[in-house]
Amino acid sequence: MTPIYLDNQATTPLAPEVFDAMLPWLKDNFGNPHSPHLIGRRAGAAVEVAREQVAALLPQSGRVIFTASATEAINLAFGAVRSRQGRDQIAVIDTEHAAVRDTALWYRTQGFKTTLLPVDRYGLVVLEELEAYLSPKTALVGAMLVNNEIGVIQPVEQIAEMAHRVDALMLCDAVQGFGRIALPQHADLIALSGHKIYGPKGIGALWVRDGIDLPPLIHGGGQEQGVRSGTLSPALCVGLGTAAKLCADRRQEDMAHIINLASKAQSLFGDWTVNGSMDQRYAGNLNIRRDGLDVARLMSDVRGVAFSAGSACASGSGRPSHVLAALGLEPAQIKSSIRLGFGRYNSIEEVEQAAQLINQAAGIQLS
Ligand code: PLP
Repeated sequence: MTPIYLDNQATTPLAPEVFDAMLPWLKDNFGNPHSPHLIGRRAGAAVEVAREQVAALLPQSGRVIFTASATEAINLAFGAVRSRQGRDQIAVIDTEHAAVRDTALWYRTQGFKTTLLPVDRYGLVVLEELEAYLSPKTALVGAMLVNNEIGVIQPVEQIAEMAHRVDALMLCDAVQGFGRIALPQHADLIALSGHKIYGPKGIGALWVRDGIDLPPLIHGGGQEQGVRSGTLSPALCVGLGTAAKLCADRRQEDMAHIINLASKAQSLFGDWTVNGSMDQRYAGNLNIRRDGLDVARLMSDVRGVAFSAGSACASGSGRPSHVLAALGLEPAQIKSSIRLGFGRYNSIEEVEQAAQLINQAAGIQLS
């Protein structure tokens, strides 16, 4: 039996339309998109159509660079701090995904001073702390659009405006919100990932505002505007482009469906406490806890539902969730938290069935 999939923050299934669009570029059209002959140019044209499809969802006055993942896009984006003369400070929200948080911390080894901005007990960045921190020494501020663990939506537009007041760059990790909710129009760098929007794994992109200087991350043949060498995969680019277009075309329908699923789940998990803000939340994420519950045991008892304890990335690394800790949760509360992620292809019946299985196992454990 295939489990009910409620882990759409970890990854999403490939949309059938995306699979269909990718297939010819895997099967018959094998051209190198960087070759000048007809077969290569056909592949190159498909890559450029995909680039435009992704760019259509992003602010104007910028360029899209394809990468292998959002993690790579974020690493590429951070390079911008190197050309910020006289600025050696980086600030990111404490609850950022490791792709941003660990990269920012690594820059300490490069002579930068990295600050982790605190959040309140709802998971929202404390803007007064950011205001007090910003200075003419600030090179970059990193803030995520939607938190992958708790679904909280950060005030990214306001953060971008504050960063710009001191001429700092603003990097937005938009992985969990791209194609679903509004992007910060004033950000300078925006990272996104294919596999979170019903596209393929192995591709992401970085949007870069015009005029921002980026040193190469990968050296070689000079592909991707000289910053990310290596032959592009037309199939993956077409997959990302098609997935982005589909998100744009179905945005209202998708969001209405996800809000329905979320309100059903909220009523079925009424005995649980929600981690993070209820107001500033992406509806597709529900992070909840029942004090006293052993989630590791719950997960092995409930084999019929694929869900996550904390975050998929955090549990993969064996690290306790730094996000839930930043909210002020005790270690025991962190261990009693689960994350449910709803997506386009879930049904109300699946949510009902999953709630029944999880609540039943939790009830047995807690009785
Ligand atoms: N940022 C956020 C918020 C994420 O949720 C993830 C993946 O879980 C990433 C970055 C990394 O994305 P990728 O898997 O494309 O490297």
